[in-house]
Amino acid sequence: MMDIQNYIGGELRPPASGRYLDNFEPATGELYSRVPSSDASDLEAAVDAAQSGFLAWSQTPAEERSRVMLSLAEGIEARAEELALAESKDNGKPVSLARTLDIPRASANLRFFAAAATQFFSESHQMEMGAINYTLRQPTGIVGTISPWNLPLYLFTWKIAPALAAGNAVIAKPSELTPMTAYLFSTICRDVGLPAGVLNVVHGEGAVIGQRLVEHERVSSISFTGGTVTGRAVARTAAPMFKKLSLELGGKNPTLVFADAVFEDAVEGAVRAAFSNQGEICLCGSRILVESSIYERFRDAFVERVSTLLVGDPNASSTQQGAVVSEAHMNKILGCIELAREEGGTVLVGGERVRPPGRCENGWFVAPTVVEGLGPSCRTNREEIFGPVVTLMPFDTEAQALDAANATDYGLACSIWSQDISRCHRLAAGIHSGLVWINTWMLRDLRTPMGGMKQSGVGREGGFEALRFFTEPKNVCIKYG
Ligand code: NAD
Repeated sequence: MMDIQNYIGGELRPPASGRYLDNFEPATGELYSRVPSSDASDLEAAVDAAQSGFLAWSQTPAEERSRVMLSLAEGIEARAEELALAESKDNGKPVSLARTLDIPRASANLRFFAAAATQFFSESHQMEMGAINYTLRQPTGIVGTISPWNLPLYLFTWKIAPALAAGNAVIAKPSELTPMTAYLFSTICRDVGLPAGVLNVVHGEGAVIGQRLVEHERVSSISFTGGTVTGRAVARTAAPMFKKLSLELGGKNPTLVFADAVFEDAVEGAVRAAFSNQGEICLCGSRILVESSIYERFRDAFVERVSTLLVGDPNASSTQQGAVVSEAHMNKILGCIELAREEGGTVLVGGERVRPPGRCENGWFVAPTVVEGLGPSCRTNREEIFGPVVTLMPFDTEAQALDAANATDYGLACSIWSQDISRCHRLAAGIHSGLVWINTWMLRDLRTPMGGMKQSGVGREGGFEALRFFTEPKNVCIKYG
């Protein structure tokens, strides 16, 4: 049984209390490692280490910070296969997805922000009466980053990379459900010689160590990705302390399919948006709205395609759907399917737990599930499920489609499938979401703003938005007569 360790002050350390939490492999349901159950004393050590790390790192030239971050990216690339296997085992996702999405994106995050560190700039404002203002952008100090379990190393690095690029010291709290790749990344930091205290990783329960990180008086900013309910608790603690706060929360994203869409592309795109990573991506399209004139044709093609998705051992290269992250999450998803039935929905395909034969028969798998017959205002169509469950709904007019798309408290992402360019622009402007994809889904350019409106969050990540979040702007006004 392997014991994961914290990474504090450049060293791998057990938790001060000696207490650990169990860590399971979702595909088998078996316990396979233990994760530190860190507490306030571990956090205090991390804050002390980060304080001295910050003194050195904030004075390090951007080019040198960039060089160190590039060596971290190379460290990931050198151990890519080990990291992909670890991510798949820890999270349940197909190893093929970890190889092609999670791990390459983790190194891309570091490469992208290593470059951005040397390209960041600030504004200056000339006044006609003979004065000039310029904006200093200085790192905010010790920042706390809290990340979820669905894209573990991908979202962990998406936060720490801009924070480090901007010259901050970081205390990172990965999800206790998927701690392994953050731990392996700590060993890369140690091997690469990241200066001590610049990045510290403390593992443990959100309500204990996550909460303590948010409320620590020496932590200046919090960047959080996770559920909306947790985000609300984080905001409740951080707001009265006037901390900088970035919240990337849940989604209930619509996929809009119009009769003039390229039919095969729309079917394939809607399947990918619905079921990638077992539907456990905040950007997944879980409500599919289809123009009435093609509804039945689309439904039949969609259901046929979904029934071919291979659910099984994440290690098998043919697997397209792995396990969901935990037994509790599997039961939550099955409960949501039950609710859909109670609300009057018809399950067209899926709808139950899957027990793949062999080593995965006790794993936590849910069949890709498609439900029809529910209106936009029922709970199934308003509440985030975060699993392989989607609904299909017909609409008659563009106005109806827009109303239904906007009929949730979330506003993260949507995808629109149509060849009518004017309609696409109209809808993009009218939809209440931070991201709009047209004739594609999850095509990401790391320079663009990423985040949601309404209950999907506050603030934006990505590109210079992230560097702006992790710096404090200071205006300097010079009068020259
Ligand atoms: P979660 O809210 O349960 O946990 C997220 C992180 O917060 C974990 O590290 C957890 O330990 C920590 N945490 C829990 N309670 C805390 C507290 N009181 N104080 C501080 N930290 C605490 O979310 P999850 O189940 O890990 O992730 C799934 C959710 O994340 C979904 O709702 C999904 O939509 C959302 N998500 C959003 C984005 C985005 O970019 N908007 C990306 C990925 C996931």
